[in-house]
Amino acid sequence: MKKLLPTSTAGSLPKPSWLAQPETLWSPWKLQEETLAEGKQDALLLSLQAQQQAGIDIVSDGEQTRQHFVTTFIEHLNGVDFEKRETVRIRDRYDASVPTVVGAVSRQKSVFVEDAKFLRQHTGQPIKWALPGPMTMIDTLHDAHYKSREKLAWEFAKILNEEAHELEAAGVDIIQFDEPAFNVFFDEVNEWGVATLERAIEGLKCETAVHICYGYGIKANTDWKKTLGSEWRQYEEAFPKLQKSSIDIISLECHNSHVPMELMELIRGKKVMVGAIDVASHSIETPEQVANTLRQALKFVDADKLYPCTNCGMAPLPRQIARGKLQALTAGADIVRRELQTSAPY
Ligand code: ZN
Repeated sequence: MKKLLPTSTAGSLPKPSWLAQPETLWSPWKLQEETLAEGKQDALLLSLQAQQQAGIDIVSDGEQTRQHFVTTFIEHLNGVDFEKRETVRIRDRYDASVPTVVGAVSRQKSVFVEDAKFLRQHTGQPIKWALPGPMTMIDTLHDAHYKSREKLAWEFAKILNEEAHELEAAGVDIIQFDEPAFNVFFDEVNEWGVATLERAIEGLKCETAVHICYGYGIKANTDWKKTLGSEWRQYEEAFPKLQKSSIDIISLECHNSHVPMELMELIRGKKVMVGAIDVASHSIETPEQVANTLRQALKFVDADKLYPCTNCGMAPLPRQIARGKLQALTAGADIVRRELQTSAPY
């Protein structure tokens, strides 16, 4: 029998202090060349072990081999100049210095496939692998070549599709696209955002997910959240289109957010990764708090389609706190799983 409420994380976990600066997003690496390659693999195994010790069902690489969830992917592409940087407004929220698209973009070779094979060698558990989504990629760049967000998104979608097929062949079970931009650019989401995402998953046989959140627990994001009012209804814009799309799983932020749970009605029929762990707070949830969030979600999502998850990546958290949160997640899921099994035969 398939396990009910399989747990997973949104993606990133903290890196060891010998690899990167603790509690720092996008920290530079502390190792170089060969020692860096070996260090990344060691960190990947440690993050796998942390997930296994906590009892996480669907494991990931903890994003230990990437410095940034978007730019590490872009670094491997032709057509982007990392020396030529421009300051642009990201997610309509904060300014960042980003590389420039100077010519046609293409993928010279696979980006994460070796890492995925390495993880596959070390576990028989289901693996979820995160990639940036096309819309979020274009929103993290300055484009001096295509001069069209939509055109560039279609190009990235093709490249992501190539990478996704190789990840699938390497044994990845779920490929997840991170699209925080879906919570910001509603017209574009509906005009071409979901369409480019579907191009990125074309022909895949493994499961596919889209993660849409309100971002890491950094100041620019927490300040933005304060302006969103008492009800966060951003998901209302993208969900109807996603419900009709061929994406299998929608990953969303829940616990401690002001997202009205009933918005999950809009994605009826989809599997839902429900964020039951707040990544913007250092306080560790109790299993009962996690269980409560899951019970609320069960009013709108069928039990066999509910996947307990974290709200977002945990990269900037202290490692001990991240571990505690993973344990809270699995303990909370255990409580609700027991309740489901005693209340009705499944
Ligand atoms: Zn996120």
